[in-house]
Amino acid sequence: MLVDSHCHLNFPEFKDDLPETIKRAWDQGIKTILTVNTKLSEARDLQKIADTYSHVFCTVGVHPHDAAGYAKPGLKEQIILLAEHKKVVAIGETGLDCYYNKSPKNMQIDSFEQHLSASIDLDLPVIIHTREADENTIKCLKNFPKAKGVFHCFSGSENLARQALDLDYYISFSGILTFKKAEELKEIAKFVPLDRILVETDSPFLAPIPHRGKRNEPAYTAHTAEVLAELRGISFPDISEATTNNFFKLFSKAKVSSSCA
Ligand SMILES: [Zn+2]
Ligand SMILES: [Zn+2]
Repeated sequence: MLVDSHCHLNFPEFKDDLPETIKRAWDQGIKTILTVNTKLSEARDLQKIADTYSHVFCTVGVHPHDAAGYAKPGLKEQIILLAEHKKVVAIGETGLDCYYNKSPKNMQIDSFEQHLSASIDLDLPVIIHTREADENTIKCLKNFPKAKGVFHCFSGSENLARQALDLDYYISFSGILTFKKAEELKEIAKFVPLDRILVETDSPFLAPIPHRGKRNEPAYTAHTAEVLAELRGISFPDISEATTNNFFKLFSKAKVSSSCA
């Protein structure tokens, strides 16, 4: 059994075949899926999907790209209200993205900090998206030492990975790990302690090899887990068990489900 710890099932890429997509993943051994919110206006759509499938869970949060529309007083309270739903197991994705810079940096920081504060009040983990913003990301996290969570779709430096681990955060690997050029990432994947690793697809984006360039979907989580097992010299069942246990430890509001409906 594997968990896809991060995907976006409400995105238009899935609108024509969501039930089939979820079934394909189940048949490939993906027995738990976390679908992640990027705009509060879509939080209820995610909750509907999670209500339909007992093994699908969801989050509440604003992607750093969309921070400009949400970074104002009261964001934290809105997040807390939406997170009351029983299938909401985490806050995010939030963080800082200074690669695309789609929202002004000060607004990204304001939104990030309101998410961190909400996550502490709710006692839920936070899902962090960070790109080209190492220093400010770590600074924000240090301002909220009680927060816990995961650096999702990790693609940063070894230095950032070590700082994340020092702060007791988890690190999640996506299909990027299967790419030939991801040499530094492969080195990072070898040293992250086994009890700190998660796997994800971030689908519909970033399909792993051998599906690169096509639409990604939760069923492909196994390709990343296979590469991870190989890099660490352990078996596929062992990496599956470890990443699954880590998921349920971090996202403790999520429970194992025995059915796909
Ligand atoms: Zn992200
Ligand atoms: Zn995402």
